[in-house]
Amino acid sequence: MRTLSSELRREKMIGFVPTMGFLHGGHLSLVDRAVSLSDIVVVSIFVNPEQFGPSEDFLTYPRDFGRDRRLLEEKGADIVFYPETEDIYPPGYSTYVEVEGFDTTLCGARRPGHMRGVATICMKLFNIVKPHLAVFGEKDYQQAVMIKKMVSDMNLDMEIVTSPTVREEDGLAVSSRNRYLNEEERRDAAVLYRALLLGKKLIEGGEDNVDEVVGAMEKMIEEKKTARIEYIEVVNSENLKLTERIDRPVLLALSVHFGGARLIDNIIAVPEDAT
Ligand code: AMP
Repeated sequence: MRTLSSELRREKMIGFVPTMGFLHGGHLSLVDRAVSLSDIVVVSIFVNPEQFGPSEDFLTYPRDFGRDRRLLEEKGADIVFYPETEDIYPPGYSTYVEVEGFDTTLCGARRPGHMRGVATICMKLFNIVKPHLAVFGEKDYQQAVMIKKMVSDMNLDMEIVTSPTVREEDGLAVSSRNRYLNEEERRDAAVLYRALLLGKKLIEGGEDNVDEVVGAMEKMIEEKKTARIEYIEVVNSENLKLTERIDRPVLLALSVHFGGARLIDNIIAVPEDAT
């Protein structure tokens, strides 16, 4: 991959989409974006053990390389990079990338080591693929903000592009983990987007108190029997710091368990006096 990229990079614009595979419409929208912005599109498929905690779903995470490969071919991706774990983390591997401050809010605060695992694999993949640009989904907003910061702090010669969240008809964000949901949990999970829209509407209607907004969203989600809230947070949409009063654009972000699935989603809300 490195040899190929070094050659291609001289004459072609390389766009890159890192994924953990089991591709769905969300991933494919990123591939479309990369195709529209570059000459050569590389998609990586690697379930990165370093970003899973010991009690998380690394071993059971869904995988189907044959299907992924077919979908990518249909979409017009040029190269699928599908490394083995041992190639990425050979015995004795010991170097990690940590972008300070990302392990104290949102998913970073609940999944020790997760953000470091994501930063490390992205840095490694960027060094191997050597893309001019990489596309990330807004569904994992904290991840996209962190990777932009890493690229800037580490002077990487590439650009990070973000792309909107793709949703099912009822608003549920498309995710590989949705396949863990049974019928009832799947129905209940549609409440997440409705709760985000409610929070956004309250803020855009003038509510500036975080507790009021979070309380209303909590109440709506708790009506669903199968939902177990991990967090609902309102943070500054640029630096992801917690806000007390909502007087500038904010990110409403949540993580909620439905049975064995941990689902995340988010939305941006802009209070009237901040526009
Ligand atoms: P993953 O395979 O879950 O690591 O995701 C790979 C990339 O796809 C990340 O940049 C995600 O943010 C993005 N992604 C995942 N789900 C969606 C979605 N529903 N809409 C847009 N992008 C997504």
